[in-house]
Amino acid sequence: MLTINPKDFKNIVFFTGAGMSAESGVPTYRGRGGIWNQYRWEEFACQEAFDREPEKVLRFHELRRQSVLSCEPHPGHFVIAKLAKKHPQVTVVTQNIDGMHQRAGSKDVVELHGSLWRVGCQDHGIIEDIGQTYKSLKCEQCRRWLRPDITWFGDMLDQDVIHEATLIIGRCDLFISIGTSGAVWPAAGFPKVAKDHGARCIEINPEPNEMSSIYDENIREAAGTALPKLFGE
Ligand SMILES: [Zn+2]
Repeated sequence: MLTINPKDFKNIVFFTGAGMSAESGVPTYRGRGGIWNQYRWEEFACQEAFDREPEKVLRFHELRRQSVLSCEPHPGHFVIAKLAKKHPQVTVVTQNIDGMHQRAGSKDVVELHGSLWRVGCQDHGIIEDIGQTYKSLKCEQCRRWLRPDITWFGDMLDQDVIHEATLIIGRCDLFISIGTSGAVWPAAGFPKVAKDHGARCIEINPEPNEMSSIYDENIREAAGTALPKLFGE
């Protein structure tokens, strides 16, 4: 059975997608049974919807927060957080917006698509707001509606965040991808960035996908069982 000794690596990156959270019961957005099958994103997750009906969009995101809070991080989340306590360079790069890694105790988390737990005013910056409901729907300084700090449909990705993720992945020597289809750019390019730097690349995903062949090893298991075994926990 494949096991990893973290001491053999200087920089470890975990790259996680929807599958990581789905194991905790967090509803996924895309695909069969996903949130975008029940709700029209045009009404809830784009700048136009927010400009038209900000309160409706904010209330929708509150529902997402509540459904995340009803779920708990799984053993895979905890293995990653625990590893970071005894290894100096462990970074999580995630496509998820639900903050599950942080709830498990991870500190170095690069969130490619923003977070359900932050809101922002274009003039007064981003603020953290945790809890079942938003503390305020409007900016305290200018009384404008606060916008969830999330990359919505039609939004540009945050180039600073993509740049940071690419730098971190470009210097890692162990790259472990978990529960991501790898189909969406620029995330689809990340395994190759790691590979080009000579990193050992491991995929953990019950299902293969079009990016699977780039990895040195493919573990066809759920992260909650695969990660504890991989790190001998
Ligand atoms: Zn403001």
